[in-house]
Amino acid sequence: MSIQTVNPFSNEVIATYPLLQPNELETKLQLAEQTFRLWSKRSICQRATPMRELCEQLKHRKKTLATMITEEMGKLHHEALAEVEKCAWVCEHYADHAERYLAPQVISTEAKRSYICYQPLGPLLAIMPWNYPFWQVFRALAPNLMAGNTLLLKHASNVPQCSQAIEHLVQEAGFPDGCLQSLLIDAKAANELITDQRIRGVTLTGSEFAGRSVGSLAGQYLKQSVLELGGSDPFIVCDDANLQQAVDAAVTSRCMNAGQTCIAAKRFFVTPAIADDFIQGLINRMQMLMIGDPNDDQTTLAPLARTDLRNDLHNQVLCALDQGAKNIIGCHIPDRDGNFYLPSILDNVSPDMGAFQEELFGPVASIIRVRNTDEAIRLANQSHYGLGASIWSKDINKAEEIALQIEAGSCFINSFVKSHCALPFGGIKNSGYGRELGVPGIQAFTNIKTVWVQ
Ligand code: NAP
Repeated sequence: MSIQTVNPFSNEVIATYPLLQPNELETKLQLAEQTFRLWSKRSICQRATPMRELCEQLKHRKKTLATMITEEMGKLHHEALAEVEKCAWVCEHYADHAERYLAPQVISTEAKRSYICYQPLGPLLAIMPWNYPFWQVFRALAPNLMAGNTLLLKHASNVPQCSQAIEHLVQEAGFPDGCLQSLLIDAKAANELITDQRIRGVTLTGSEFAGRSVGSLAGQYLKQSVLELGGSDPFIVCDDANLQQAVDAAVTSRCMNAGQTCIAAKRFFVTPAIADDFIQGLINRMQMLMIGDPNDDQTTLAPLARTDLRNDLHNQVLCALDQGAKNIIGCHIPDRDGNFYLPSILDNVSPDMGAFQEELFGPVASIIRVRNTDEAIRLANQSHYGLGASIWSKDINKAEEIALQIEAGSCFINSFVKSHCALPFGGIKNSGYGRELGVPGIQAFTNIKTVWVQ
């Protein structure tokens, strides 16, 4: 059994890797546990030294790493560069702030002294997706290594080069061997690992389907888990929004990374006063996107990561059209090589359609026309996802009131949704549970220990 790197632009097979044999996996598991014993005893300040070096390595090698990301999953080269830079930032952030985020907290009780401290749990399994093949890993890696855990990385099967490159970077930064190991294994073997008593927690970023499987096993084996799953984020444009800014943000959010972003705006709620102008703005901007070689600076819309995913997206669009949505632009596969999908707008999308209920992981905007903001809030919440939301209004008080009524892990006002090293990130409902990043993120895989001194 093997896995392959296939270039999404040319569909050429770039490399083939054998899957790990059970005895090789066992050796890595033993190393993760041994390393945990020594790594967890180092002070946070000691852990920060290789973390700072990792930040430097990422900055130093960003061009080569970005080229590899583009070759392996197809994103635009400048987006890949930005991704590597963001990874350097998360390393620096947790090297600088982990001590404060994990500082013991004194709680006043009738004891002489009582406090909470945060201790590492052990080797963790990180199951990661291909869409941000560096960032998704680093946003788990930086906080968890600083907290004293070790990590076994089961990356998505279409990004083995990225997976191995991350392991090399961590080794070369001076972390002890076994702090982070890349496992070229399939989903079945990952599930078996969850049942191993040496694995003390599992963090998954991926689809709802994978989340159900990993979450139920983690529950059955009583493992701490964090699930970062899909989303169908609402983007609510109020009558008094700055339309130009809203249109620009809508297109960026929906189309960056070729639309393959969990927190991309996917459902656009528009009220009658601004609907036509907003849609016209969207059409103008999306029609300017140029598909082509992701390494070419002129290209502004990359191919999708895999042919099967592009075909699945097209079927979702066809289904929406069948159900009564209106094709405004795009909605088809261009006649050329590579996993491209044309920038597309579906109008008159309604809650009974798949385009409303499901996640569309590509450059397809679904427009939902509503009578007023109350209806926008009600329909925005009529989704089994709850990851992020974006609200556009010049009246900040009104926008904050809307934000408080939206069922989502984060709400951004007059901005599209993005992750920030210092802020917790995650969802509710079928978008998952638990948080990465920020104080809750670094504490997610710690033993929150109560100490009582009488
Ligand atoms: P995916 O198919 O669920 O794969 C994600 C990872 O899970 C891969 O490593 C995959 O391995 C593994 N996996 C799949 N099924 C599994 C199972 N039954 N048991 C254990 N592991 C399993 O998702 P994807 O297509 O790579 O990523 C896209 C999805 O991720 C979208 O839904 C997106 O919204 C979501 N996502 C969420 C966030 C967030 O922060 N909330 C961020 C990014 C992406 P194989 O590759 O070997 O199948």
